[in-house]
Amino acid sequence: MILVTGGAGFIGANFVLDWIASTGEPVINLDVLTYAGNLESLASLAGDSRHLFVKGDICDRALIDRLLAEHRPHAIVHFAAESHVDRSIHGPAAFVKTNVEGTFTLLEAARQHWVPLPEPERSAFRFHHVSTDEVYGSLPPTAAPFTEEHLYEPNSPYSASKAASDHLVRAWHHTYGLPVLTTNCSNNYGPFHFPEKLIPLMIVNALAGKPLPVYGDGMQVRDWLYVKDHCSAIREVLARGKVGETYNVGGWNEKPNIEIVRTICALLDEMRPDPAGSYSRLIAYVKDRPGHDRRYAIDARKLERELQWKPAETFETGIRKTVRWYLDNAEWVARVQSGAYRDWVATNYSDR
Ligand code: NAD
Repeated sequence: MILVTGGAGFIGANFVLDWIASTGEPVINLDVLTYAGNLESLASLAGDSRHLFVKGDICDRALIDRLLAEHRPHAIVHFAAESHVDRSIHGPAAFVKTNVEGTFTLLEAARQHWVPLPEPERSAFRFHHVSTDEVYGSLPPTAAPFTEEHLYEPNSPYSASKAASDHLVRAWHHTYGLPVLTTNCSNNYGPFHFPEKLIPLMIVNALAGKPLPVYGDGMQVRDWLYVKDHCSAIREVLARGKVGETYNVGGWNEKPNIEIVRTICALLDEMRPDPAGSYSRLIAYVKDRPGHDRRYAIDARKLERELQWKPAETFETGIRKTVRWYLDNAEWVARVQSGAYRDWVATNYSDR
């Protein structure tokens, strides 16, 4: 059994589904269900005893102690975070609380659980911290992609809080010997992505005939990875990664934001043509985000070389699947937009 934090969020939910499908192993899913937590994404697991959902906060030390003592998971995979850069600009406190204090609380609980474990449980235990490429800061246009040796230069409250959590994880390994692994991944996209983030926002707005807001000149470059490829990378690192190491995860898919938006418009034109004309007519440039990083790009060669990991999707195949998923799951989107997804918890899960 493993303990996943934030398993009702975008990547966490994809990971829980992927983990159970590929390993058959049970998961305790600890999530406090902020606006970003959506248990409907895990509706296919309702009634499946391999998914034990616990509504709770990663800052709640007593709860984490109880879960570790009761279930003795052999790994903690830590996704729970405040994750939206725009929100971090307007309300940074929650980011420091969850991303820094929450990670600290988990690390302390993990350490005190791990130290007295008997062998071989003790050697097998892992704390896997899921982090972002945004900790490395902004990359000049012609610079080589971020390697694991790149300086930490976070620029937003979000990336600064994630950088702080990465440092805590590193320190708990160096100081206490806690068997940690850290992965720093590029931007994810795919099913169950909350429609405040670029790709789902553009799909959902286009289908509603609303403007497609593009920050500044739209030339901010991001490196994109299909979420299921991120999940497979975490599984590989958890199974075979070297304790104490950091692995960058990315798909070698650098794209300017405006190209992403144009690609989505072209796919929608093909899959759901609008009699009013191409969806690209809805593109609207808006004032840039303060401190907006110009470019992120990941060098994932260490993971490819040492663990033979490779993404299964190219950007072209992944974005096509994603647009298709949003077209086929209009109900999921509608229930996120109306807030109805929150009621699902009350009727389908009781706190355990
Ligand atoms: P998300 O915002 O979709 O999900 C976060 C989840 O954490 C939600 O279910 C939320 O309810 C839960 N949560 C928040 N605060 C909590 C708390 N105090 N206690 C328990 N649960 C809490 O985020 P995501 O996009 O799925 O990202 C997951 C992780 O991956 C984050 O750590 C993020 O930094 C990292 N990451 C994300 C991306 C990306 O492109 N989305 C890329 C690289 C790394």
